[in-house]
Amino acid sequence: MVTAVNAFSLVPFARFVVLGVLALGLMACQTLRELELQSTRLVFSPQQEAELGMAFAEQIEEDLELVDDPVVQAWIDDVGYTLVEHSPPTAQEFTFRVVNSDQVNAFAIPGGFCYVNSGLIKLAENEAEVVAVIGHEINHVTTRHGIRSLQRAMGLDLAAQAVGGDAGTRQAVELVQAAGGMVAMRSFGREDEREADRLGVEAMYRAGWDPRAAATFFEKLRAGEQAAGASDNPFTQILSTHPTTAERIRNIREQVDGYDLTVPLRKDSEEFQEVKARLAELAPPSPEAEEAMEEVMTEED
Ligand SMILES: [Zn+2]
Repeated sequence: MVTAVNAFSLVPFARFVVLGVLALGLMACQTLRELELQSTRLVFSPQQEAELGMAFAEQIEEDLELVDDPVVQAWIDDVGYTLVEHSPPTAQEFTFRVVNSDQVNAFAIPGGFCYVNSGLIKLAENEAEVVAVIGHEINHVTTRHGIRSLQRAMGLDLAAQAVGGDAGTRQAVELVQAAGGMVAMRSFGREDEREADRLGVEAMYRAGWDPRAAATFFEKLRAGEQAAGASDNPFTQILSTHPTTAERIRNIREQVDGYDLTVPLRKDSEEFQEVKARLAELAPPSPEAEEAMEEVMTEED
């Protein structure tokens, strides 16, 4: 009879060595992160970030179907700006848009342009669940993750060329496109994701929404992700694989455990349910717009 053996239990010493190496690796990672943050001088000023973001926003919005409904717009502006008020200060002015797309997704680009898909809003049971996602996206901007990611992809020389060119924003946009465009602006590391989660949950709690909704919505996304499988998965964009969704949910729960949840916290609003009803009435997006939505997240040109 073959017995499965645990190598760790057989060789305690080896186990310590392995753990030691893992710990060293972890320390090295943390130190690298600190070094990266300290030494990566951002060549893009907040003003240049805003101009670049606006140029990309204009391009994206040509191809996507934005929801043009004053009630929907008033709701997302209200939620968005409330979260911005409770997030770390930033030089960026935010713009919020709801996109008619069945893909469960939301994203922000440098300069404070935040997009939330109707598919994500329809999946959410209550307002606080969407608030959690918007809070996360806002804080990729307040922390300047996007522009930092872009600079990493471009390299210091090219980034300096982009901001120093005589041709201004147009030339910068061309150089950014050559470096990967939107993908380069959204190649976040795991620390970026953790930070955006933490600040987003913090903002929603401080603004009076129930932060437990962040965990429940992530669980819903994870269930959808698993049900959809690996291919053709509408959930994979929003849930980056690192850190894993399970870890993110754990971190959020730990953070929320530290909050006083006996204070009045809101989960839902009439306005949100009205928004959901209106989005349910929308004609489906055109195939071209859905394709553009997919390309926004994956284009390499
Ligand atoms: Zn993120």
